Order: sequence, then structure tokens, then C-alpha cells
Amino acid sequence: MLSVTQSSLMSEKGIVYLVGAGPGDLGLVTFRARELIAQADVLVYDYLVHPELVAWCKPGCEVVYVGKKAGFHSVPQEEIESLLVKHAKAGRRVVRLKGGDPFVFGRGGEEARTLAKDGVRFEVVPGVTAALAAGAYAGIPLTHRNTSSSLIFLTGHEDPKKHELQVDWRAYGALKNATLAIYMGMGHLRFILAELVAGGLAPSTPAAVVQWASLGRQRSVAGTVADLADRVEAAKLAAPAIIFVGDVVAHHEQIDWFEHLPLFGRRVAITRTRDQNSDLRDKLETLGAEVIEIPLINIVKDVAREPLIEILSDLGTYDWIVFTSANGVRFFFEDFLKGFPDIRALGMLRFACVGAATAREIEKYHIRVECMPDTATGASLADALIATGSLDSAKVIVVTGNLNRDTLVKKLEAARAIVDRLPLYKTEKVDLSSHPAADDFRQKGADVVLFASSSAAQSFHDQSAQLALSAGAKKPLFGSIGPQTTETMTELGMKPDFEAAKPSLDALVEALIGRVAKKEM
Ligand code: SAH
Repeated sequence: MLSVTQSSLMSEKGIVYLVGAGPGDLGLVTFRARELIAQADVLVYDYLVHPELVAWCKPGCEVVYVGKKAGFHSVPQEEIESLLVKHAKAGRRVVRLKGGDPFVFGRGGEEARTLAKDGVRFEVVPGVTAALAAGAYAGIPLTHRNTSSSLIFLTGHEDPKKHELQVDWRAYGALKNATLAIYMGMGHLRFILAELVAGGLAPSTPAAVVQWASLGRQRSVAGTVADLADRVEAAKLAAPAIIFVGDVVAHHEQIDWFEHLPLFGRRVAITRTRDQNSDLRDKLETLGAEVIEIPLINIVKDVAREPLIEILSDLGTYDWIVFTSANGVRFFFEDFLKGFPDIRALGMLRFACVGAATAREIEKYHIRVECMPDTATGASLADALIATGSLDSAKVIVVTGNLNRDTLVKKLEAARAIVDRLPLYKTEKVDLSSHPAADDFRQKGADVVLFASSSAAQSFHDQSAQLALSAGAKKPLFGSIGPQTTETMTELGMKPDFEAAKPSLDALVEALIGRVAKKEM
């Protein structure tokens, strides 16, 4: 039997999840956070949360940004809290995402109190807090046998006008064998270090600052309590950063693995036009690069009703279905499953697709892909299908967008296949005028732009006015995935500076590393 409170709680659908988003790197977001983001009706997020997390939301999720924007203040805390309460009371699942951990200098406690007071159900999901990430990614163990037996998280943010708690720095300076991890302290770095020394800390104690921990743009500076402030000033490091003080910092030099990765410190722009891009982002980030993903086009579901109904009602008569994108697979199954509750309605239909990302989407339905070319292009896909020797008089469905797939269709028809196009989506240009990734690119430029397809090069060229670099920005090199993309780029006046040895993402990344190693950038 449920108690009264339990049953009344269960009848209310509205709930707020206070979720830690980790220090920045997408790989450091918890499984639980990702799951909750995917189910959320409303996502409220702020500064220091990776904007890419928004892409995990389901369609129709309301996304509210409450963080700081250049020149603007963030939304006041009370307003954020009443927003959470309002949405939850309207029966919605709200995810409140916060950088790092919600209960570490994140005002998560205040939000939880308000929710409790207003009778709103809530849960708290921890995240990797910045100090942990900064230690791991800068090679600074936070505790160490014989040198540090305690770890203290402190806030250096002190505004006397705000009547916040004052940190007694001198008392912390008197501690022995401790590691101090100071958040929000960059504005008072000199003062904090001086106070620690005044409290008894040896000026020779190792100390470091780690900015943008875990991200491709991470930077760190190490020294001693005596010289850290000068070094940080010379290196122009600023917030967001963690200041470490303690003997453990001495290990930095030996075990700083992240900043030695082959692409560390490189800004690499990639274009988002196809499904393979998060693969490319992952590969680059794993090698330490800072990735700017410029979304040039949006794929929007746009179903041509008549062919859909005709094809679905005659599904048993077709031999092959051909996909040129993972989106096509997704959209096809959405409609197929609306019409047929049983996967077996596909009958003996054989599946062909253009590349690995599309194949993965098909395999989610436990369907074997029988034909996939080595090179992910429409023309190679047609060749691979022809090579199966099964096309003569075969009925073939080609799932398409509004961009023509003429080469593919014509080649199949020339091999005597009977082809029916099934248009399920369209491709729209993204407005880049105020897009954060585009802004970042315009202002700072990049070391390289990588093009993984001809259509990416074409879209980049179409949008070039909106991607014009500002005066101080770094002019990027161009990298191409293979001969076909190189040809398109050359025609468009964007001759690549390097090309992958064979048309694959791995080879493209290898070519990039080769280029970086040559120190020609
Ligand atoms: N709740 C957060 C802290 C928010 S306070 C957490 O648990 O991490 C904001 C401060 O966190 C910044 O001023 C900086 O000191 C620190 N911070 C957040 N992200 C960081 C990062 N990627 N690298 C270094 N410091 C970071």
C-alpha cells in the first residue's frame, strides 16, 4: 500500500532535476545527466555548461539560457527559482543544469530549498566539480601520500559589499600538508597568495592556475606562491580557473598528460552538415584539440505524403531500401512504426547505406546492412549496389532530402533498377548571424577548418559572408577528406592545404596531426 504522501507525489508529474553538467568536456557528463536531458520538457542552463548538451534534448523541449552573455548580466537567482517552480507546477519535467556539481559553489542548495519550500518534487544529480577536473587534466594529484593529507575547496570570490562570508586566508596559510583548491579566485589572486603567506605558508610552496580545465582551450601555469601571480599575469590567464596551492602541484611537470596530446592547443573548426560530425568532434577532442562545430545546415523532417503512403502500402514488393544519411533512417522508422506495429512488416527488404554513421542507425533496429561502400559518397554507394548483381528489374526505394541524389538514382536506373524516391527531409541553411560557434569563429578564427564532404565545403562557401573573420582572427588552413572534396573546394576557390591519404575521418585526423607536427601552422 502506498502512503498518502507517496500516492499524491506520484500523481504529480512535475519535477525538477538539479543536475551537474561537469567541468566542460562532454565526456565528463554523467550517464544520468544525459538520460534526464533527453527526457526533459524544459532545460534551464547557464554559463560554463557546454552548449552542445542542448542537442541531447528531445524535439519540442523548451530550452532556457539563464547565464551571462557578453555585456549582459545573468538572470537573477530569484527569477531562476520561480521559473523552476512554475514549470514543475505545470506538470513538466525540468532539468536545471549547472556547471560542475550543483552543490559546490553553485547555489544549488538555494534552489533545492526553494523547491522544497514550495512543495515541488526534486532530485539532485552530482557532477564532476571543476577542481577535480583541473587536477586530473593538469596532472596535479589532489592528495598524495606523504605530502598532502587533506583537500580543501575554497571560494576566492569576496565582495565586501555583498556581505558574503569572508575566508580567513591566514588560517588556511597556517595548515600543514594540505591542498587548497580555490574557485573564483582570479580577481584576487595576489591578495589571496599574500594572505596565505602572512598566515605562515612558505613562499616556495608550489602553486598553479588551471583555466578552462578539461577543454581543448585549457591552459595552465605553475610556479610557487611567490611568483604565481606574475606568471599568471604574463600568460594572461583569467577566469574560469582553479588555483591550486600545495606540494602536490610539484607533480604537474611530470604527469601533465593532457597538455602534451598531439592536438592540444589547436583550434579546429568542423562543419556540421552530416551525421558523422560528432564522431569527428570526439576524435579531435580525444587528441586534445579545441573543436568549434559550425552548424551550417539543419536537417528538418519534411515528408512527401503521397510517395510515403504508396511505398509503405507496397513495401512487400521492394527489393532494396537505400539510405544516404542517419537522419533519413530515423525519419523513415518514425513513420514506418506509426503504420506498422511489427518490424516484420519490412519483409525481405534489403538495406543499403552510404557509411558507418548511417549503418549504426539501421543496426539499432537489429537489421543487417547488406551493402555499404568503402567511401561514403552517393556514387560509391551506387557502385557497391551494382556490384551485388541484384539490380536488374529490382525495385529500389531511395530515401532522400531535398538536395538531389541524382547521381545515385541515375546510376541505379542505368543498371536497370526501378527506383522510387522517398523524400523525408529537407536541408535548411542555419542563420549564423548570432550563433555562438560562428561568433567564436569570426572573432578568433582557427588553426584549421576540416571538410569531411563536398557538401560541407559547398555550405561553408555559401555561408562565407556570415563567417568572415574579424581583424585579429587567426586565418585557418583548410583540410580535405579526399579527392572529391578537394575538387569541389578547388572549384570554389578554397584550395585545401592538405588532404587525407584516404577518404576516412581517421585519415583526415592523421593528416591534420602530420601537418601540426611539421610546425607549419
Ligand atoms: N558548481 C561549479 C562551480 C561554479 S563557480 C563546479 O562545481 O565546478 C564558478 C567557478 O568554477 C569558476 O570561477 C572557476 O573557478 C570554476 N570553474 C568552473 N569550470 C571550470 C573549468 N572548466 N576550469 C577551471 N575552473 C572552472
